[in-house]
Amino acid sequence: MGVNSVTLVTMDQDPACVFCRIIAGDLPSHTVFENEYCVAFLDVNPVTDGHVMVVPRHHCGEVEALPAASYAGVMEGVARVSAGLRRSLNASATTIGINNGPDAGQVVPHVHVHLFPRTATDGGASLHAVLRAKTHHSLEEVSRGLQAAIGADFAPT
Ligand SMILES: [Zn+2]
Repeated sequence: MGVNSVTLVTMDQDPACVFCRIIAGDLPSHTVFENEYCVAFLDVNPVTDGHVMVVPRHHCGEVEALPAASYAGVMEGVARVSAGLRRSLNASATTIGINNGPDAGQVVPHVHVHLFPRTATDGGASLHAVLRAKTHHSLEEVSRGLQAAIGADFAPT
């Protein structure tokens, strides 16, 4: 899906949100990809060259509030940007992650997927490096509780 075929759907947006303002074209950005459901642009405070954020057009604070209709479109943006980072910056891998909520380090309250191009010698770490906490429960215990919670609580819109 190329930029020329994008249908600019106006979904719920928050005029006070910096990402909604970028998506609306009210603030400048270095946009690298867009489709009906997401816009991808360079982070203005990059941790490395090619630090991109894929942002759903729909304003929502956290992943759990993302409309189900956006899932595939946002993931298409992630996959295409990742492939582009490999080609344009000679990355041999990418790290893809979401700080989902303020306690996880999310600063802008509009869901955004970070992508970093990676190489074997960049000195970076894996996503597992963000937390080195001890576990307190068995896998069985956690699995049982989580399965019940997922079944009971989640209702995508
Ligand atoms: Zn927003």
